[in-house]
Amino acid sequence: MKVLGIESSCDETGVAVYDTSLSGAAALRAHAVYSQIALHAEYGGVVPELASRDHVRKTLPLIRQTLDEAGIAISEIEGVAYTAGPGLVGALLVGAGVARSLAWGLDVPAIGVHHMEGHLLAPLMEDDPPEPPFVALLVSGGHTQLIAVDAIGKYRLLGETLDDAAGEAFDKTAKMMGLPYPGGPQLAKLAELGTPGCYKFTRPMTDRPGLDFSFSGLKTQVLMAWRDSDQTDQTRADIARGFEDAVVDTLVIKCGRALDAAGCDVLVVAGGVGANKRLRAKLQEAAQRRGGRVCFPRPELCTDNGAMIAFAGALRLQAGQHSPAEVKVTPRWDMALLPPLQGE
Ligand code: ATP
Ligand code: MG
Ligand code: FE
Repeated sequence: MKVLGIESSCDETGVAVYDTSLSGAAALRAHAVYSQIALHAEYGGVVPELASRDHVRKTLPLIRQTLDEAGIAISEIEGVAYTAGPGLVGALLVGAGVARSLAWGLDVPAIGVHHMEGHLLAPLMEDDPPEPPFVALLVSGGHTQLIAVDAIGKYRLLGETLDDAAGEAFDKTAKMMGLPYPGGPQLAKLAELGTPGCYKFTRPMTDRPGLDFSFSGLKTQVLMAWRDSDQTDQTRADIARGFEDAVVDTLVIKCGRALDAAGCDVLVVAGGVGANKRLRAKLQEAAQRRGGRVCFPRPELCTDNGAMIAFAGALRLQAGQHSPAEVKVTPRWDMALLPPLQGE
Protein backbone atom coordinates (compact mmCIF):
# COMPACT_ATOMS: atom_id res chain seq x y z
CA MET A 1 0.00 0.00 0.00
CA LYS A 2 1.39 3.40 -1.02
CA VAL A 3 0.46 6.01 1.58
CA LEU A 4 0.89 9.77 1.28
CA GLY A 5 1.63 11.42 4.63
CA ILE A 6 1.09 15.10 5.45
CA GLU A 7 2.39 16.83 8.60
CA SER A 8 1.33 20.41 9.42
CA SER A 9 0.93 20.58 13.21
CA CYS A 10 3.26 23.50 13.83
CA ASP A 11 5.94 25.26 11.79
CA GLU A 12 7.08 22.48 9.46
CA THR A 13 5.24 21.30 6.37
CA GLY A 14 6.21 17.65 5.85
CA VAL A 15 5.17 15.28 3.07
CA ALA A 16 6.20 11.69 2.40
CA VAL A 17 5.30 8.55 0.50
CA TYR A 18 5.58 5.28 2.44
CA ASP A 19 5.20 1.99 0.55
CA THR A 20 4.32 -0.95 2.78
CA SER A 21 5.16 -3.46 0.01
CA LEU A 22 8.86 -2.66 0.57
CA SER A 23 10.69 -3.50 3.79
CA GLY A 24 13.09 -1.63 6.06
CA ALA A 25 14.29 1.88 5.31
CA ALA A 26 13.57 1.42 1.57
CA ALA A 27 9.82 1.61 2.23
CA LEU A 28 10.16 5.36 2.66
CA ARG A 29 10.06 6.22 -1.05
CA ALA A 30 10.54 9.97 -0.58
CA HIS A 31 10.06 12.67 1.99
CA ALA A 32 10.46 16.42 2.07
CA VAL A 33 10.18 19.02 4.81
CA TYR A 34 9.72 22.74 4.41
CA SER A 35 10.58 24.60 7.61
CA GLN A 36 9.04 27.99 8.41
CA ILE A 37 11.90 28.95 10.73
CA ALA A 38 12.87 32.05 8.72
CA LEU A 39 9.26 33.23 8.69
CA HIS A 40 8.92 33.17 12.49
CA ALA A 41 12.50 34.17 13.40
CA GLU A 42 11.81 37.90 13.68
CA TYR A 43 9.07 37.21 16.26
CA GLY A 44 11.25 34.85 18.32
CA GLY A 45 8.57 32.14 18.26
CA VAL A 46 5.87 30.56 16.12
CA VAL A 47 3.01 32.93 15.12
CA PRO A 48 0.01 30.59 14.59
CA GLU A 49 -1.77 32.59 11.87
CA LEU A 50 1.43 32.98 9.84
CA ALA A 51 2.05 29.25 10.24
CA SER A 52 -1.41 28.33 8.83
CA ARG A 53 -0.99 30.67 5.87
CA ASP A 54 2.41 29.27 5.03
CA HIS A 55 1.12 25.68 5.14
CA VAL A 56 -1.51 26.81 2.59
CA ARG A 57 1.29 28.02 0.32
CA LYS A 58 3.61 25.07 0.73
CA THR A 59 1.55 21.87 1.05
CA LEU A 60 0.55 21.29 -2.60
CA PRO A 61 3.96 22.16 -4.11
CA LEU A 62 5.60 19.87 -1.55
CA ILE A 63 3.22 17.02 -2.44
CA ARG A 64 4.10 17.43 -6.15
CA GLN A 65 7.81 17.50 -5.33
CA THR A 66 7.63 14.40 -3.11
CA LEU A 67 5.64 12.38 -5.65
CA ASP A 68 8.16 13.35 -8.35
CA GLU A 69 11.06 12.27 -6.15
CA ALA A 70 9.33 8.96 -5.40
CA GLY A 71 8.56 8.48 -9.11
CA ILE A 72 4.92 7.86 -8.24
CA ALA A 73 1.82 9.30 -9.93
CA ILE A 74 -0.85 10.73 -7.64
CA SER A 75 -3.28 8.12 -9.04
CA GLU A 76 -1.11 5.36 -7.51
CA ILE A 77 -1.68 6.64 -3.95
CA GLU A 78 -3.82 4.13 -2.04
CA GLY A 79 -4.26 5.95 1.26
CA VAL A 80 -3.69 9.35 2.84
CA ALA A 81 -2.46 10.03 6.38
CA TYR A 82 -2.45 13.48 7.99
CA THR A 83 -1.64 14.88 11.41
CA ALA A 84 -4.97 15.42 13.20
CA GLY A 85 -3.43 16.65 16.48
CA PRO A 86 -2.07 17.68 18.87
CA GLY A 87 -0.90 21.02 17.48
CA LEU A 88 -2.02 24.46 16.32
CA VAL A 89 -5.64 24.27 15.19
CA GLY A 90 -5.27 26.42 12.07
CA ALA A 91 -2.12 24.66 10.96
CA LEU A 92 -3.68 21.23 11.51
CA LEU A 93 -6.79 22.22 9.52
CA VAL A 94 -4.70 23.04 6.45
CA GLY A 95 -3.11 19.57 6.34
CA ALA A 96 -6.38 17.85 7.20
CA GLY A 97 -8.27 19.81 4.52
CA VAL A 98 -5.75 18.98 1.81
CA ALA A 99 -5.53 15.32 2.87
CA ARG A 100 -9.28 14.85 3.05
CA SER A 101 -9.83 16.51 -0.34
CA LEU A 102 -7.17 14.34 -1.97
CA ALA A 103 -8.59 11.18 -0.44
CA TRP A 104 -12.07 12.17 -1.60
CA GLY A 105 -10.85 12.92 -5.13
CA LEU A 106 -8.82 9.70 -5.35
CA ASP A 107 -11.52 7.66 -3.61
CA VAL A 108 -9.05 6.16 -1.11
CA PRO A 109 -9.26 5.92 2.69
CA ALA A 110 -7.66 8.58 4.89
CA ILE A 111 -6.66 8.58 8.53
CA GLY A 112 -5.91 11.30 11.08
CA VAL A 113 -2.66 10.49 12.87
CA HIS A 114 -1.62 11.50 16.40
CA HIS A 115 1.54 13.59 15.99
CA MET A 116 3.23 12.02 19.03
CA GLU A 117 2.42 8.50 17.85
CA GLY A 118 4.11 9.54 14.62
CA HIS A 119 7.22 10.60 16.55
CA LEU A 120 7.09 7.45 18.71
CA LEU A 121 6.92 5.07 15.74
CA ALA A 122 9.58 6.88 13.66
CA PRO A 123 12.43 4.63 14.94
CA LEU A 124 10.51 1.63 13.56
CA MET A 125 11.00 2.93 10.01
CA GLU A 126 14.71 2.11 10.21
CA ASP A 127 16.23 -1.28 9.33
CA ASP A 128 15.90 -4.05 11.97
CA PRO A 129 13.07 -2.35 13.88
CA PRO A 130 12.37 -3.32 17.50
CA GLU A 131 9.06 -4.96 18.38
CA PRO A 132 6.89 -4.04 21.38
CA PRO A 133 6.92 -4.25 24.31
CA PHE A 134 9.43 -1.46 24.77
CA VAL A 135 9.78 1.88 26.55
CA ALA A 136 9.67 5.11 24.54
CA LEU A 137 11.29 8.40 25.44
CA LEU A 138 9.54 11.23 23.60
CA VAL A 139 11.63 14.38 23.76
CA SER A 140 10.42 17.20 21.55
CA GLY A 141 9.62 20.89 21.61
CA GLY A 142 6.30 20.36 23.37
CA HIS A 143 6.65 16.99 25.13
CA THR A 144 8.95 15.07 27.45
CA GLN A 145 7.33 11.74 28.18
CA LEU A 146 8.27 8.20 29.12
CA ILE A 147 5.77 5.73 27.70
CA ALA A 148 5.38 1.99 28.10
CA VAL A 149 4.49 0.64 24.67
CA ASP A 150 2.69 -2.67 25.26
CA ALA A 151 1.72 -2.90 21.59
CA ILE A 152 1.42 -0.41 18.75
CA GLY A 153 -1.47 1.80 19.80
CA LYS A 154 -1.36 0.69 23.45
CA TYR A 155 0.46 3.41 25.33
CA ARG A 156 0.82 3.88 29.09
CA LEU A 157 2.27 7.14 30.36
CA LEU A 158 5.00 6.40 32.92
CA GLY A 159 6.17 9.94 33.51
CA GLU A 160 6.30 13.39 31.94
CA THR A 161 7.54 16.91 32.47
CA LEU A 162 5.78 18.99 35.08
CA ASP A 163 6.79 22.23 33.33
CA ASP A 164 9.02 22.86 30.29
CA ALA A 165 9.65 20.14 27.68
CA ALA A 166 13.31 19.27 27.10
CA GLY A 167 13.33 20.91 23.65
CA GLU A 168 11.61 23.98 25.05
CA ALA A 169 14.28 24.22 27.76
CA PHE A 170 16.99 24.04 25.07
CA ASP A 171 15.25 26.78 23.06
CA LYS A 172 14.60 29.10 26.03
CA THR A 173 18.11 28.66 27.44
CA ALA A 174 19.61 29.43 24.04
CA LYS A 175 17.50 32.59 23.79
CA MET A 176 18.64 33.75 27.25
CA MET A 177 22.25 33.47 26.15
CA GLY A 178 21.58 35.47 22.99
CA LEU A 179 21.63 32.65 20.43
CA PRO A 180 19.47 33.15 17.32
CA TYR A 181 16.02 31.49 17.04
CA PRO A 182 15.38 28.58 17.22
CA GLY A 183 18.17 28.01 19.67
CA GLY A 184 18.05 24.30 20.61
CA PRO A 185 20.26 22.90 17.85
CA GLN A 186 22.56 25.97 18.06
CA LEU A 187 23.00 25.49 21.80
CA ALA A 188 23.89 21.84 21.20
CA LYS A 189 26.48 22.87 18.61
CA LEU A 190 27.97 25.43 20.98
CA ALA A 191 28.13 22.84 23.78
CA GLU A 192 30.59 20.85 21.67
CA LEU A 193 33.11 23.69 22.13
CA GLY A 194 32.51 23.91 25.89
CA THR A 195 34.67 22.42 28.63
CA PRO A 196 32.88 19.64 30.52
CA GLY A 197 32.62 20.19 34.27
CA CYS A 198 33.32 23.92 34.12
CA TYR A 199 29.69 24.63 35.00
CA LYS A 200 27.79 22.03 36.99
CA PHE A 201 24.00 22.30 37.14
CA THR A 202 21.57 20.06 38.99
CA ARG A 203 19.96 16.95 37.51
CA PRO A 204 16.38 17.93 38.41
CA MET A 205 14.19 15.42 40.27
CA THR A 206 16.75 12.61 40.13
CA ASP A 207 17.31 12.76 43.89
CA ARG A 208 13.90 11.20 44.58
CA PRO A 209 12.00 8.27 43.10
CA GLY A 210 9.63 8.81 40.18
CA LEU A 211 9.63 9.22 36.43
CA ASP A 212 8.52 12.83 36.06
CA PHE A 213 10.76 15.65 34.87
CA SER A 214 11.13 19.36 35.56
CA PHE A 215 13.39 21.53 33.43
CA SER A 216 12.27 25.05 34.24
CA GLY A 217 14.49 25.44 37.34
CA LEU A 218 17.53 24.43 35.30
CA LYS A 219 16.82 27.29 32.92
CA THR A 220 16.85 29.71 35.87
CA GLN A 221 20.19 28.29 37.10
CA VAL A 222 21.66 28.90 33.67
CA LEU A 223 20.25 32.43 33.55
CA MET A 224 21.97 33.28 36.85
CA ALA A 225 25.25 31.65 35.85
CA TRP A 226 25.23 33.57 32.54
CA ARG A 227 24.27 36.88 34.20
CA ASP A 228 27.09 36.59 36.76
CA SER A 229 29.71 35.48 34.23
CA ASP A 230 32.17 37.42 32.04
CA GLN A 231 29.90 36.57 29.07
CA THR A 232 32.76 35.67 26.73
CA ASP A 233 32.25 33.23 23.86
CA GLN A 234 34.14 30.50 25.74
CA THR A 235 32.00 31.00 28.86
CA ARG A 236 28.86 30.76 26.75
CA ALA A 237 30.10 27.45 25.34
CA ASP A 238 31.06 26.18 28.82
CA ILE A 239 27.61 27.02 30.19
CA ALA A 240 25.97 25.41 27.15
CA ARG A 241 27.98 22.25 27.84
CA GLY A 242 26.98 22.28 31.51
CA PHE A 243 23.32 22.70 30.56
CA GLU A 244 23.39 19.97 27.93
CA ASP A 245 25.12 17.55 30.31
CA ALA A 246 22.48 18.23 32.98
CA VAL A 247 19.57 17.59 30.59
CA VAL A 248 21.20 14.52 29.04
CA ASP A 249 22.16 12.96 32.40
CA THR A 250 18.65 13.54 33.72
CA LEU A 251 17.07 11.89 30.68
CA VAL A 252 19.50 8.94 30.85
CA ILE A 253 18.86 8.37 34.58
CA LYS A 254 15.07 8.43 34.12
CA CYS A 255 15.20 6.15 31.07
CA GLY A 256 17.09 3.58 33.16
CA ARG A 257 14.46 3.82 35.86
CA ALA A 258 11.61 3.51 33.35
CA LEU A 259 13.17 0.37 31.83
CA ASP A 260 13.51 -1.10 35.34
CA ALA A 261 9.88 -0.24 36.14
CA ALA A 262 8.64 -1.77 32.89
CA GLY A 263 10.91 -4.83 33.24
CA CYS A 264 12.25 -4.27 29.75
CA ASP A 265 15.60 -3.63 28.03
CA VAL A 266 14.56 -1.96 24.78
CA LEU A 267 14.30 1.81 24.59
CA VAL A 268 13.15 3.84 21.60
CA VAL A 269 13.84 7.55 21.47
CA ALA A 270 12.03 10.07 19.29
CA GLY A 271 11.29 13.77 18.92
CA GLY A 272 13.60 16.65 18.05
CA VAL A 273 15.89 16.35 21.09
CA GLY A 274 16.52 12.77 19.96
CA ALA A 275 18.78 14.33 17.33
CA ASN A 276 21.12 15.49 20.11
CA LYS A 277 24.48 13.79 19.63
CA ARG A 278 25.43 13.61 23.30
CA LEU A 279 22.04 12.15 24.26
CA ARG A 280 22.43 9.49 21.57
CA ALA A 281 25.95 8.60 22.71
CA LYS A 282 25.06 8.48 26.42
CA LEU A 283 21.97 6.34 25.84
CA GLN A 284 24.04 3.95 23.69
CA GLU A 285 26.57 3.60 26.52
CA ALA A 286 23.78 3.00 29.05
CA ALA A 287 22.17 0.36 26.79
CA GLN A 288 25.49 -1.43 26.44
CA ARG A 289 25.98 -1.41 30.21
CA ARG A 290 22.61 -3.07 30.80
CA GLY A 291 22.89 -5.43 27.83
CA GLY A 292 19.87 -3.82 26.19
CA ARG A 293 19.15 -1.90 23.04
CA VAL A 294 18.35 1.71 22.18
CA CYS A 295 16.78 2.68 18.83
CA PHE A 296 16.67 6.14 17.28
CA PRO A 297 15.38 7.42 13.97
CA ARG A 298 18.04 9.03 11.75
CA PRO A 299 18.41 12.64 12.99
CA GLU A 300 16.29 14.19 10.19
CA LEU A 301 13.36 11.97 11.24
CA CYS A 302 13.64 13.05 14.90
CA THR A 303 12.26 16.53 14.23
CA ASP A 304 8.88 17.04 12.55
CA ASN A 305 8.47 15.30 9.20
CA GLY A 306 5.86 13.74 6.93
CA ALA A 307 7.52 10.32 6.92
CA MET A 308 6.49 9.48 10.48
CA ILE A 309 2.89 10.45 9.66
CA ALA A 310 2.86 8.37 6.46
CA PHE A 311 4.29 5.41 8.40
CA ALA A 312 1.98 5.59 11.44
CA GLY A 313 -0.99 6.12 9.11
CA ALA A 314 0.06 3.23 6.86
CA LEU A 315 0.12 0.84 9.83
CA ARG A 316 -3.39 1.82 10.85
CA LEU A 317 -4.81 1.91 7.30
CA GLN A 318 -3.38 -1.57 6.70
CA ALA A 319 -5.10 -2.75 9.86
CA GLY A 320 -8.37 -1.54 8.31
CA GLN A 321 -8.70 1.64 10.34
CA HIS A 322 -9.63 5.02 8.86
CA SER A 323 -11.29 8.22 10.06
CA PRO A 324 -14.67 9.63 8.98
CA ALA A 325 -14.75 11.92 5.92
CA GLU A 326 -15.17 15.18 7.84
CA VAL A 327 -12.26 17.61 8.19
CA LYS A 328 -11.79 17.29 11.93
CA VAL A 329 -8.71 17.96 14.03
CA THR A 330 -7.97 17.47 17.73
CA PRO A 331 -5.59 20.21 18.98
CA ARG A 332 -5.39 18.55 22.43
CA TRP A 333 -5.30 14.79 22.34
CA ASP A 334 -4.22 12.21 24.91
CA MET A 335 -2.23 9.42 23.28
CA ALA A 336 -3.54 6.87 25.80
CA LEU A 337 -6.97 7.26 24.14
CA LEU A 338 -5.80 5.89 20.78
CA PRO A 339 -7.25 2.56 19.67
CA PRO A 340 -4.85 -0.40 19.55
CA LEU A 341 -3.60 -1.35 16.09
CA GLN A 342 -5.05 -4.83 16.33
CA GLY A 343 -8.39 -5.48 18.07
CA GLU A 344 -8.23 -6.79 21.64
P1 ATP B 1 5.91 18.42 19.67
O1 ATP B 1 6.34 17.30 18.80
O2 ATP B 1 6.02 18.14 21.13
O3 ATP B 1 4.59 18.97 19.27
P2 ATP B 1 7.71 20.00 18.09
O4 ATP B 1 7.04 19.29 16.96
O5 ATP B 1 7.87 21.45 18.00
O6 ATP B 1 6.97 19.63 19.45
P3 ATP B 1 10.06 18.58 17.31
O7 ATP B 1 9.99 19.09 15.93
O8 ATP B 1 9.94 17.14 17.52
O9 ATP B 1 9.12 19.36 18.31
O10 ATP B 1 11.46 19.01 17.90
C1 ATP B 1 11.87 20.36 17.94
C2 ATP B 1 12.63 20.56 19.23
O11 ATP B 1 13.82 19.77 19.22
C3 ATP B 1 13.06 21.99 19.46
O12 ATP B 1 12.73 22.36 20.77
C4 ATP B 1 14.56 21.95 19.24
O13 ATP B 1 15.26 22.88 20.01
C5 ATP B 1 14.90 20.55 19.67
N1 ATP B 1 16.15 20.07 19.03
C6 ATP B 1 16.37 19.82 17.74
N2 ATP B 1 17.64 19.41 17.52
C7 ATP B 1 18.23 19.39 18.75
C8 ATP B 1 19.54 19.04 19.22
N3 ATP B 1 20.49 18.63 18.39
N4 ATP B 1 19.77 19.13 20.55
C9 ATP B 1 18.80 19.52 21.39
N5 ATP B 1 17.58 19.88 21.02
C10 ATP B 1 17.28 19.81 19.71
MG1 MG C 1 9.08 22.83 14.54
FE1 FE D 1 6.87 17.25 16.81
